[in-house]
Amino acid sequence: MNGTTFKTCSCRDEATGKKLGKTCPKLRRPGGGEWWSSTPGRWAYQLELPAHADGRRRNPLRRRGFATLEEVEAELEHARALLALDEDPHVQRKVTELMLWCSRTPRRCRRSKKYGARSAPDRTSTPP
Ligand SMILES: [Zn+2]
Repeated sequence: MNGTTFKTCSCRDEATGKKLGKTCPKLRRPGGGEWWSSTPGRWAYQLELPAHADGRRRNPLRRRGFATLEEVEAELEHARALLALDEDPHVQRKVTELMLWCSRTPRRCRRSKKYGARSAPDRTSTPP
């Protein structure tokens, strides 16, 4: 699946009030053309997703708010790897739905991860 990383910021167009997103000129290095500036903005990624069962195209997965290129690339690679787990389109759709559920409710996913980390030492300290 095709995935891209890019930078976004919260600057708005003075005339229209619309968010500039990845088109903000401050995100580019002066005279650097396609190079992203290292300072302002946050990293984001977009990943193409498998189509619906009836063949309808699905909107790509978009996540933003990463501090570094390393972070955003790691998460994009992780998402790609999840989709590559199985070639069966049915399995891919199930994985996709789970990923979308997680990205809609990130707090719930983070909490369940934390719970897993906390419960491990508790178990070892339980008396026999
Ligand atoms: Zn900006």
